[in-house]
Amino acid sequence: MFMRLILLGPPGAGKGTQAQRLVHHYGIIQLSTGDMLRAAVAAGTPVGLKAKDIMASGGLVPDDVVIGIISDRLEQADAKDGFILDGFPRTVPQAEALDRLLQSKDFALDAVIELRVDESALLQRVENRVAEMTERGEQVRADDKPEVLSQRLASYRALTEPLIRYYSERSKLLTVDGMMAIDDVTRDIRRVLRRSGVPMSKFGVRRW
Ligand code: ADP
Repeated sequence: MFMRLILLGPPGAGKGTQAQRLVHHYGIIQLSTGDMLRAAVAAGTPVGLKAKDIMASGGLVPDDVVIGIISDRLEQADAKDGFILDGFPRTVPQAEALDRLLQSKDFALDAVIELRVDESALLQRVENRVAEMTERGEQVRADDKPEVLSQRLASYRALTEPLIRYYSERSKLLTVDGMMAIDDVTRDIRRVLRRSGVPMSKFGVRRW
């Protein structure tokens, strides 16, 4: 399948989980700026050094930094077959930069999937993630703490939420109820994509 998608939603909405499932189902790659930045922090690269404290406090890494990361990543061969962006764009200037990037490559964006979740559920979800990761012996994210989550939510509301309008005005927005069980959310994403005729084979034939 061939698709260029964005997953949009607040922290804890389930973007990463759903992106993984779309990767398996449609055979396209996931590009998560959060994962890329965490890898940069772990490797101690110049980008990582810049991002570390900002991420740990729940703020947003400067636009030019993440735009640079995504721009480099889209140059790689595997991005030609489509991708799911998870965690990018996160601000209107990032969305504008993405539009320019895609235009310069003659790429079109197919859809933006908004995972809509009640804010009151987010803290519990992040707490569950922390408990699960601890149980598996994995390192817990530095920003998965209640006090940081409220800052991440504030960043989301102020800077990322305007993207809902941005993409709705461009007729790209597909909204899915992210409060349902994981499998039901996955099914609904596939349904709204099918209904809007987005999944295409690499040969340009629309598949239903
Ligand atoms: P979340 O679960 O909060 O959506 P992510 O893994 O997507 O988490 O991102 C973690 C952190 O990485 C963010 O809080 C932010 O500091 C930084 N980050 C990730 N993507 C971006 C971006 N596109 N622009 C700015 N900062 C970003």
